[in-house]
Amino acid sequence: MPIVALILTISAAVAPTPTSEYAPANDEAYTLDLEVDGYRNGAMDPDRLMEYRGCVLERDAAYMYALLMEAAEEDGVPLGFEDCYRSYGSQAAAYNSRCPITETPIFAVDPLTGANVQTGVQSARVCSGPPTARPGASNHGWGRAVDFTDGNGILGCSDATFRWMQGNAHRFGWVHPDWAHCGMATQEPWHWEYAGVTDSILPGFGRLDPKLLQVVQ
Ligand SMILES: [Zn+2]
Repeated sequence: MPIVALILTISAAVAPTPTSEYAPANDEAYTLDLEVDGYRNGAMDPDRLMEYRGCVLERDAAYMYALLMEAAEEDGVPLGFEDCYRSYGSQAAAYNSRCPITETPIFAVDPLTGANVQTGVQSARVCSGPPTARPGASNHGWGRAVDFTDGNGILGCSDATFRWMQGNAHRFGWVHPDWAHCGMATQEPWHWEYAGVTDSILPGFGRLDPKLLQVVQ
């Protein structure tokens, strides 16, 4: 018993401080808490969204994103974003433009007239370009994914900014999901997700300039 008590005392003594780092709690975007709370992908309640310098994200993800961006700035890394929260409508628009439906008419011979007549249409979706999630399936729709850029555009596998992300994103609960790793057929070096943090106490506004992290109107 005395040993257990001692360990608990030590644990309490190392409670998070403003300089704590926040290890990711999962390997990819954590969304179960949002689902349990009744939020819907692509239709997030604006009360749960926040904006940091033009990037709209789910509140907790936005806190940690802001700290990540501040750390990049301190290190002189030109980290930027192209895409943050995506509504259902914008997910659908992206999906429809990358995976348009093509329609092929179906013909058959009419037994009465012998004529070849159209009896229907076969439709299929053909995708091109980078893989695009079905509407409602993207973690951008939960506000817990960001497509990052550097000064030259969307992040590439050999970019120094990508390597900085590999070394630092996890300090703020952000991860690069397995399917997006460089070398995979589905590689997306630019796509990173907020995976929750092992430390349940988020830093909140205390460390941030409130003018930078804003409520979404
Ligand atoms: Zn993405």
